[in-house]
Amino acid sequence: MGRSEHDAPVDALTGLMRGGAFEALLDKSITASRGNQFAVIVIGLDRFQNVNDLLGYGAGDCALRAIAHVLAGFALNGAAVSRLGGDEFALHFPGCDEHAALLHTAAITASFEQPVQVMNRDIFLSASIGLAIFPRDGACGASLTRRAAAAMHRAKSRGGSAVEHAGLDPAFRPEERYRLENALRLALAKEQFSLRYQPQVDREGVLQGLEALLVWDHPDLGRIEPDSFIRLAEETGDILPIGEWVIDAACRQIVAWRAAGLQPPRIALNVSPVQFASAGFVERVIGILDSTGTDGGCIELEITEGSLLRDMEESALHMAQLRAQGIRIAIDDFGVGCSPLTYLHRLPLDVVKIDRTFVSQITVPAGSLPVVHTITVLAHHRGLQVVAEGVETIDELELVRAARCDLVQGFLFGAPLTNAEVARLLADPARLSEPFHSPNPSTF
Ligand code: C2E
Ligand code: MG
Ligand code: MG
Repeated sequence: MGRSEHDAPVDALTGLMRGGAFEALLDKSITASRGNQFAVIVIGLDRFQNVNDLLGYGAGDCALRAIAHVLAGFALNGAAVSRLGGDEFALHFPGCDEHAALLHTAAITASFEQPVQVMNRDIFLSASIGLAIFPRDGACGASLTRRAAAAMHRAKSRGGSAVEHAGLDPAFRPEERYRLENALRLALAKEQFSLRYQPQVDREGVLQGLEALLVWDHPDLGRIEPDSFIRLAEETGDILPIGEWVIDAACRQIVAWRAAGLQPPRIALNVSPVQFASAGFVERVIGILDSTGTDGGCIELEITEGSLLRDMEESALHMAQLRAQGIRIAIDDFGVGCSPLTYLHRLPLDVVKIDRTFVSQITVPAGSLPVVHTITVLAHHRGLQVVAEGVETIDELELVRAARCDLVQGFLFGAPLTNAEVARLLADPARLSEPFHSPNPSTF
């Protein structure tokens, strides 16, 4: 697999950063913001296809460059500007609440009142705008951009030249929260949850694990991302039965794959902090292993940093009890919390998963390579395995390998897989090692 234009952080047509780099920048901003608000504004040009159809694609490109130039002017107000693709652009305004964001959307709308020069003609364009505010509308760069883009599409479908707020997404209006809560309560009984599995691959490209990721498909609301409903489930307490369902479903799936003559690797399961801290958690996990006929060696539990500091002694005790069953313990999203090194020294762990924000910055000059390398050295010193999360490009793969990470996980190896896709992969695991045979000269 060679390096494609899609891997490049900069859009060749406009010189603006591409969507992947923009989301990585938002993730970095989340880490740095310590909970302070910021705005993500997604802009779609109304009826832009007309420009291409009537004046030709050359004129279309010219118009996109002109709009990019206008939007780049907002960098003077502190914005980062990106072209997401096609006729869609995105801006990030740091340190900005909803009120300030509305002033920016008004300025953006006003900037479209001037025509742009395309091949010696003046053409008038208008824009549909979607607005998302961190942390209210999403917890990561990808979800904020997605929800701002969904709001932009709602504005477009109302005829364009309008601003829509992600916060007013029907599924998330305060008065609709009750409905979503009820939907969530019924989701288990209605069998609306399923698991997807993302491969974890070792330095030679061999499949070593699968991370189970929860998916909620609601008949009216569509697919709802874990980032949107896990928090709600934690608030309502529904996370306890849902979390138990996840462990049970994964264990039953392991048994089913084995019965089909396949040899699944270890399955990593995300455990919510609320679930991990709940009374009787360890006993319930052991109960599920017994009732499904699996053993602790089949699973790994991923726990996020944030949950552990509250009661380090008790966390350590529960981890030791789980490890006594052969269950491996991974610390998820490592590095974004407050005192990561404390955990490495004080908790009985097996695996450290380096957060995606570090991986996405690893190829940048003066980026995160030394940090990733240092985490790996410290983790190896403690006898822990290191997983790099969110590897999307060959360059990132090469650098996380150079930083001595043991396992890699990310879209480079494909999107998370359904049960049936995993079965096909287990029957033919060689295809995962494809990125390792890239013609790129290796750095090590
Ligand atoms: P996580 O545990 O850190 O999971 C990784 C997330 O990153 C997944 O998103 C995955 O699809 C996404 N991802 C993987 N590779 C890449 C990549 O190369 N690039 C990008 N941009 N993203 C990548 P997903 O499925 O939306 O899950 C989000 C979070 O929701 C998870 O983060 C986890 O904290 C939580 N979650 C997911 N399933 C469960 C579950 O069963 N129980 C609990 N309690 N939490 C869950
Ligand atoms: Mg995880
Ligand atoms: Mg993670």
